Amino acid sequence: MALTPESVKKLVASGVEVAVEAGAGTKAGFLDADYTTAGAKIMDHAALLQEADILACVNRPEPEDYPSLKAGTVIIGFLKPLDEPAALASIVARKLTGFAMELVPRITRAQSMDALSSMATVAGYKAVILAAERLPRMFPLLMTAAGTVPPARVLVLGAGVAGLQAIATGRRLGAMVEAYDVRAAAGEQVRSLGAKFLDVDLGGIQTEDAGGYAKELSEEALQRGRDMVAKHAATSDVIITTAQVPGRRAPLMLTEAAVASMRPGSVIVDLAASTGGNCALTRAGETVNVNGVSILGPLNLPATVPYHASQLYSRNLTSFLGLIADKGALKIDMADEILKGACIAYNGGDVHPKVTAALAQPGGSSATKEN
Ligand code: NAD
Repeated sequence: MALTPESVKKLVASGVEVAVEAGAGTKAGFLDADYTTAGAKIMDHAALLQEADILACVNRPEPEDYPSLKAGTVIIGFLKPLDEPAALASIVARKLTGFAMELVPRITRAQSMDALSSMATVAGYKAVILAAERLPRMFPLLMTAAGTVPPARVLVLGAGVAGLQAIATGRRLGAMVEAYDVRAAAGEQVRSLGAKFLDVDLGGIQTEDAGGYAKELSEEALQRGRDMVAKHAATSDVIITTAQVPGRRAPLMLTEAAVASMRPGSVIVDLAASTGGNCALTRAGETVNVNGVSILGPLNLPATVPYHASQLYSRNLTSFLGLIADKGALKIDMADEILKGACIAYNGGDVHPKVTAALAQPGGSSATKEN
């Protein structure tokens, strides 16, 4: 749910009129009555689209929704601007304004709007819970009258936001955790969570871009990582993979041979499934079993923790709305680097250069020509 009652209350107090689609929050645990108490009007889908100046959503509207929106309506949500740019053509054609939460620059001033980090936090946590539930072993070291139970061994690949949350969750459950990331800076964060950082000699190459993200590595550097991962996979009960390179296919980290070396009953949760997967055997959206090893390729784990995923997202969105809603009036300053960075199109024009580039790739189509 894009806005929780807590956020609605804040927005209403700041002079914004809020309308909520009837029943939209129910499955996440937010009832229409809670929204009414917070000061929102409850409306049906069609009426809401016609009246909105700003449409706050989780995912982008359905194609049939666009004709109902007024020109100049602002759409804010996970708009998938780089994965599915052609689907945004209606925003341009209908002279709408779109802000993609994925493109909010990760600068200090925008930290409270960082919805990608919020969702990665939820996904990292839930990945470990899924693995623990499926593993035929317990996570903690137990000393019982019936003898000692050794702790589970968890390997986390990629120590960004999701990876660090997976490490912290695995540690809280009592597992022994190891982690690998190409960014050397991740080592200190991994160790501070009580996990072991696996160092790979990549020959001193630059692995990070100016924004702090991983760069796409050479095949040789990737292979060195894979070799080390293969050695540790054989002794791991659980592997959580989170390695991603923005705008690229996820790097292949876990080969078929590495999976074959794992004990039956072991569990792999591949959080990079939606961008091609870190494991060679992952099938996006499915769970496969290979020689007794379960490989989970979930596509939207935050949706399985809807209450807190909504709460965090709603706070991010409300913080973003603070930039464009001034005492209830819509005021967009396109000179603001956060708004400029996140804007897909402004009143149908100024299409974001990354979207233009994504459209120019095979499979993309021109945003300015489609309806
Ligand atoms: P991400 O989802 O793009 O990638 C996840 C992790 O995979 C990253 O840590 C990356 O280094 C790693 N990775 C990529 N290729 C790899 C490979 N071949 N082998 C091993 N690991 C590989 O990243 P993210 O979680 O969004 O965060 C990336 C960076 O951005 C981190 O440094 C994070 O601290 C930083 N960040 C900054 C802010 C902020 O300043 N507001 C917010 C969030 C994240």
